[in-house]
Amino acid sequence: MDKKFIRNFSIIAHIDHGKSTLADRLIEYTGAIDKRLMKDQLLDSMDIERERGITIKAQTVRLQYTADDGNTYQLNLIDTPGHVDFTYEVSRSLAACEGALLVVDASQGVEAQTIANVYMAIEQNLELIPVINKIDLPSADVERVKKEIEDVIGIDASHAVPASAKEGIGIKEILESVVKYIPEPKGDINSPLKAMVFDSWYDSYQGVIILIRVIDGELKVGDTFCFMSNDKEYNVDKVGVFTPLAKNVDKLSAGEVGFVISGIKELKDVRIGDTLTDPKNRTKEPFPGFKHVKPVVFCGFYPVDTKDFEDLRDALEKLSLNDSSFTYEPENSAALGFGFRCGFLGLLHMEIIQERLEREFDLNLITTAPMVIYKVYKTNGEVVEVDNPVKFPNPGEISYIEEPIIKATIIVPNEYVGNVIQLLQSRRGFQKNMHYMSSTRVILEYEVPLCEIVLDFYDKLKSITKGYASFDYEHAGYREADMVKLDILINGEPVDALSIIVHRDQAYYKGRDLVEKMKEVIPRQMFEIAIQAALGNKVIARSTVKAFRKNVTAKCYGGDITRKRKLLEKQKEGKKRMKMVGKVEIPQEAFLAVLKIN
Ligand code: GDP
Ligand code: MG
Repeated sequence: MDKKFIRNFSIIAHIDHGKSTLADRLIEYTGAIDKRLMKDQLLDSMDIERERGITIKAQTVRLQYTADDGNTYQLNLIDTPGHVDFTYEVSRSLAACEGALLVVDASQGVEAQTIANVYMAIEQNLELIPVINKIDLPSADVERVKKEIEDVIGIDASHAVPASAKEGIGIKEILESVVKYIPEPKGDINSPLKAMVFDSWYDSYQGVIILIRVIDGELKVGDTFCFMSNDKEYNVDKVGVFTPLAKNVDKLSAGEVGFVISGIKELKDVRIGDTLTDPKNRTKEPFPGFKHVKPVVFCGFYPVDTKDFEDLRDALEKLSLNDSSFTYEPENSAALGFGFRCGFLGLLHMEIIQERLEREFDLNLITTAPMVIYKVYKTNGEVVEVDNPVKFPNPGEISYIEEPIIKATIIVPNEYVGNVIQLLQSRRGFQKNMHYMSSTRVILEYEVPLCEIVLDFYDKLKSITKGYASFDYEHAGYREADMVKLDILINGEPVDALSIIVHRDQAYYKGRDLVEKMKEVIPRQMFEIAIQAALGNKVIARSTVKAFRKNVTAKCYGGDITRKRKLLEKQKEGKKRMKMVGKVEIPQEAFLAVLKIN
């Protein structure tokens, strides 16, 4: 296709502002798919995604659109992952485009993810077309939102398109704007092949499918290509596009977007952001911005029942076929036995994997407290990256420690600003910026240690702002911090899986709070249980779970047998997520009690 008639674009939006609905309408309008085949929100393919309303794996659609100028255009709509944990993937998807539709809810206005996404789009030099969505809502205020886009984001909103994805209003105007405002792709069909990988996934029939944006040259069935990061060569079996159903094509040329199938067996052989070229006629420079993504949050997964260990290994292996961004390696805990140390791109990513393990593989897991990677500079000159409290060096060996920091953007209605600032302060946050977006909302920028976000920040933020705050973050490097290891002892024995890393200033109150929270969740047993928090050899807090006084079933004596059975069954149910540590039964909640600390 002549590049003049190609437009590559994404839709960026804060969650729930209507990105998926709009994508559906664009597909429907251009007649790419039969209405009866059209499932709601076709682009979100996995169940969990649907429930959580996020898009994990990007999918891309080629649309044909005949514009008012009489020309037929090839529009490549590139779907981007919707969550902050997948930032790098979002940036690569955007890098495959020349423009983006910036969807903003007409009743809500600009939110934190709107801004984070816009920054990324601007970094990629994309042409932005504001779409003010949900104008059908009575509370829609198009003019206010336009002004917000101009004031807060600093882009011209005079050509913003008012739309309702739900009712199909403004769809044609949006398509005309795409054709009119988004530039045609640059690149040269006669240069050596250069194509950027912006997504990939594993398909059990086809093997690994990669999505590419061709920058220069072309790629045909039968061609050989190599990845520039590792020079591995492959033969092209199929190239094609999604319309949204997969459709094979003869070739993909400069400016176009599509999929490649080439006998790659494992997802980990493909890296997002990598460049494909022709090994016999190489492009000079790879596409810029290639980065190796590394997990930033770690936790332990242990089967409740030791005999499930192999099943857990199989499940992790299967999941990693579809998601090469999480890591796992076997680890051994004195308290929990055999399990895996797993690494994730963020907390949500961790929750998704955990949920899939439990739901799709029917595993019963104990999860240990999430932790970030600390850089520990030792007195002997060594630097170690620690992702597990068990590996934390002894205080005597430590010269200093650095922790990961994030830059957080939070948008919140005026009345909750005080609450949010208080929360950020308690999380060791440092204010970088604060200003009024309008007479009703404030935008805050803070630097906060990542470990403070990992521990239940998002839920707290939602609850202290009645759900009105929006939040996004980006990584902002490492900074020195006085971190210490807090151990928990149960009846005098340290339980390795309960140790956490905390800031020294918070050690005392966290220790106290933690033993209290554990006391609430550890059930009474036949003997008294002492719970202690300690820094090194020094016990800093203690609580006690008293022994049983009477038989639980005693109350039902002489009475109803079904009630008694129910009670016993309930106890059994509760036991499912218990782990025997020494003689003490410890429930899952105790391992995550640190998330409940205020
Ligand atoms: P996404 O998270 O940005 O992909 O948002 P969705 O497309 O999933 O939409 C979020 C919610 O907003 C859904 O309940 C949609 O039905 C609803 N929605 C989307 N567009 C419109 C619209 O134009 N008007 C109204 N009233 N609701 C909409
Ligand atoms: Mg969506």
